[in-house]
Amino acid sequence: MQKITDELINWYQKNKRDLPFRHTNDPYAIWVSEIMLQQTTVAAVIPYYYRFLSTYPTVKDLANASLDEVYKLWEGLGYYRRAKNLHSSAIKIVDEFDGIFPRDYVDIISLPGIGPYTASAISSFAYHEEYAAIDGNALRVLSRLLGLHDNIAENRTIKRITEYANKMIVGKDSASFNQGLMDLSNAFCRPKNPDCISCPLHVYCQAYKNHEEKVLPINIKKIKKTEHSFITGYITYDDQVMMKINEEGLLEHMYGLVQYEVNDPYAFMEAFKKEYGQSLILESFVKDFKHVFTHRTWHMHVFHFVLSAPNDYLMNAEDMKKAAIPTAHKKILDYMHKHVIIAD
Ligand code: SF4
Repeated sequence: MQKITDELINWYQKNKRDLPFRHTNDPYAIWVSEIMLQQTTVAAVIPYYYRFLSTYPTVKDLANASLDEVYKLWEGLGYYRRAKNLHSSAIKIVDEFDGIFPRDYVDIISLPGIGPYTASAISSFAYHEEYAAIDGNALRVLSRLLGLHDNIAENRTIKRITEYANKMIVGKDSASFNQGLMDLSNAFCRPKNPDCISCPLHVYCQAYKNHEEKVLPINIKKIKKTEHSFITGYITYDDQVMMKINEEGLLEHMYGLVQYEVNDPYAFMEAFKKEYGQSLILESFVKDFKHVFTHRTWHMHVFHFVLSAPNDYLMNAEDMKKAAIPTAHKKILDYMHKHVIIAD
């Protein structure tokens, strides 16, 4: 664990992206940049960041401005609630903290529009406090590095990973760790097709070691009670795809991909083994699909599995043309045909 932290910090210090908000320790400027970066790319933020700070160089300047002026400056950046929160936070800082940006994490997170990620980022970048800043990118990288099979859409997983990361930075340069995670996710550990060969941490990465870099993180969102969430298997053997006929239910007598209402691909593999007596090799996560029927909605989290031996349910492209396949699965097959591999 310590080795990962040291290597990440070391790599970051030699390879960090040169961004304007990395040249300051001013919590106000860091705060403005972090709010602007929410849901917005670095390239889009940079000109706004310069303009905002030259118009309002201090918290007090921002607090003294009218909201209309702030909105005007924000024009084109979108998500205007962020501008409103910045403005009302600036007023709160003037009223409650004598116009000085607070240092304490609890005070920082009490400001409108600041959640755990932003509070941790400000605490570590401006004050070098030992807080790990965990956003979606950090969750992905840490899930892969640590080989975690927990669902990152669940709060308890976010809590667990945050606690773990907080332990990883005890006595370390937390700012470099947090920014290193960010740069690593941007350079190598991308959501699709991570570049593990070039990644400086691949020797320590559990996902890479176990060939799970295209599977992790598990990210299955919670659904409403009237909806159904499946792990759907795009199961292949050579150039054929496993399609099974539905004996009953909504799509009776139609051919479909195998799917189970389970929470992750590992539970799918167990259920599959129980039903078909065969083991599967987990290749990769493909994509989430949604299909709305008249009275119900299916959320299908599609994973690609490979059979270790053929079975009687395999179809090639010609067989599939003749088979009745519901739209819900037809669109998955069409996607695979276009983007990945399929029997041809
Ligand atoms: S080795 Fe691959 S999966 Fe692991 S951290 Fe690097 S890019 Fe991500």
